Amino acid sequence: MKRILIFLLFAVAFAALALPASAADPITVNSTKFVNNFRTNLIFQLDTQSSAGKINQIALLIQLDGVASSARQIPEFTPGAQVQTKYEWDLIRTYLPPGATGKYWWDIQDDQGNKLTTDKQSFRVDDIQHQWQKLNNSKLALYWYRGGDSFGKALFDRANQAIEMLEKDTGVVVDQTVQIFIYGSNDDLKKSISAGAQEWTGGQAFPEYGIVVVGVEPSNLEWGKDATTHELTHQIIHQKIRSPLGDLSMPRWMDEGLAVYYETIPGTLDSQFSTPLKRAIQNDTLVPMRTLSGNFPADSSAANLAYAQSYSMVDFIYRKYGKEKMAELLQEFKVGGAYDDILRKILGVDTDSLDNQWRADIGAKPRVIPTRNASQPTAFPTFGLSTDYSTPVAGAKPTATPQQVAQNSSASSAVPQSSQAPSDPGVSIQLCSGSMAVVLLGLLGMVWSMKRRTL
Ligand SMILES: [Zn+2]
Repeated sequence: MKRILIFLLFAVAFAALALPASAADPITVNSTKFVNNFRTNLIFQLDTQSSAGKINQIALLIQLDGVASSARQIPEFTPGAQVQTKYEWDLIRTYLPPGATGKYWWDIQDDQGNKLTTDKQSFRVDDIQHQWQKLNNSKLALYWYRGGDSFGKALFDRANQAIEMLEKDTGVVVDQTVQIFIYGSNDDLKKSISAGAQEWTGGQAFPEYGIVVVGVEPSNLEWGKDATTHELTHQIIHQKIRSPLGDLSMPRWMDEGLAVYYETIPGTLDSQFSTPLKRAIQNDTLVPMRTLSGNFPADSSAANLAYAQSYSMVDFIYRKYGKEKMAELLQEFKVGGAYDDILRKILGVDTDSLDNQWRADIGAKPRVIPTRNASQPTAFPTFGLSTDYSTPVAGAKPTATPQQVAQNSSASSAVPQSSQAPSDPGVSIQLCSGSMAVVLLGLLGMVWSMKRRTL
């Protein structure tokens, strides 16, 4: 009797175990497919069926690498025992750069309550309009298609030199591969970057994905090396100070100063920057560093001075305080806080005192520090990567503007198209929803690039 009871218990237990398995089986997937039609759309296809009822709920989930949240999309379909459906990601509306990667999977349900979640599958956005050549290592992948092997190798080698120096000097570790796409003409670039990009745009940076897209004509190799390294430095610095909530801000002079510093090895200031700097020292017209903690001027000659001062300040910190202090500063900016508090903690001086130390070092007159309120910019998280379940999250940031600006600008008049600056409504939207620092960097990159090209 006891044996029979035990047998019955086992039988019931087995039956109970078997039930959920058979209940999960009715829904099967015949096929899934990802089709890359850059730069029109990405298509995610599904063919599925249920042996128990009508499939009446389908959701596509997309998780982009580098973005904290996943996006849930509901494709259109007619409920039935077998369903074929697709979701079309409109790249014109929601741009993703070449090189962006992610995973997708499907949640499927039928009207009998059966459910199936498919395995996650990887996808990658590729610009298939060109035959890309590629050089890569664990830290950097450089793609190009014009200029031949030597052109790509020169850019790749220069970028790797910069990475090596940055890692050595600042303690950053490049653990997310930076992808750089070099478009061989400005026309090509414009066909591949986001539709909303301004006319002057010569490149875009996507810090969340670690991707830089730049236009470099093969005949402009030397300039291309500087521009590529400049943008690469921004990417690496922002990778360093990035938090799960998005970018944290740092003084603009430090961000741009580092980017200019690593353009050349060893860091030097060419005449387009050193001349206005010398003039400003002589005429006592240097801009307060506190001002350069925030926005840079839109006027190109003023911006040139801002870049020159930024470079010079970074150079000064390296010489006076040592490179390990820069590493400590970056570490603190990652944690966040008021700029002055961070500078005081690591260097023992606030922005104004540092400014005067630097002025003494470069032979400028001391500046009278006006009484001021405590309204200096402070580090703050931007929530560009915050959850948005309604649409895929992507942020296109305008950045350095090599070619187009050069074509649009006369050699003597380097007035930037500053109407594109932060007051531009399109840009304002990005400022609210994207990584503010990087957007502004991009705008400044434009000015920087423009000036570069005009000399
Ligand atoms: Zn920059």
